[in-house]
Amino acid sequence: MAKLKIIKIGDDTLRQKSRPVTEVTPRIRTLLDDMLDTMHAADGCGLAGPQVGVLRRVIVVEAESGHPYQMINPEILEQTGTQNEVEGCLSVPGEWGKVVRPAYVKVRYLDKDGQEQIVEGTGLLARALCHEIDHLNGILFVDNATELESES
Ligand code: ZN
Repeated sequence: MAKLKIIKIGDDTLRQKSRPVTEVTPRIRTLLDDMLDTMHAADGCGLAGPQVGVLRRVIVVEAESGHPYQMINPEILEQTGTQNEVEGCLSVPGEWGKVVRPAYVKVRYLDKDGQEQIVEGTGLLARALCHEIDHLNGILFVDNATELESES
């Protein structure tokens, strides 16, 4: 596994829409493992394809330490309620802000074996899933954040 370079805000790659994965190849599996390594090394709880320069619909999320999700073509099926908590992003270092997210989401995705899976999340997991799926559509948390704070 390898550590990948994380692209920062200002790079146009982060503003593009990612394409679905049509076939779960060894290359995609390696990418997902490398993304998990990269996320761990950066002490983050989520990372999306565009953040490592790959415009494919792949994300990794680890809201609870030791329980990572490696997801292909994630899609929100249901969402209810709202939460408004502080979040940040590995592509926007040193900035934090509050973003309104659903309190609960149900997400369908393919796992590394190409099997369809469903995850339901609340709290940080729901927020991280929405944040990472936003990346696949070229959206950054700062687009919708209030009370933005930066730290140099
Ligand atoms: Zn992010």
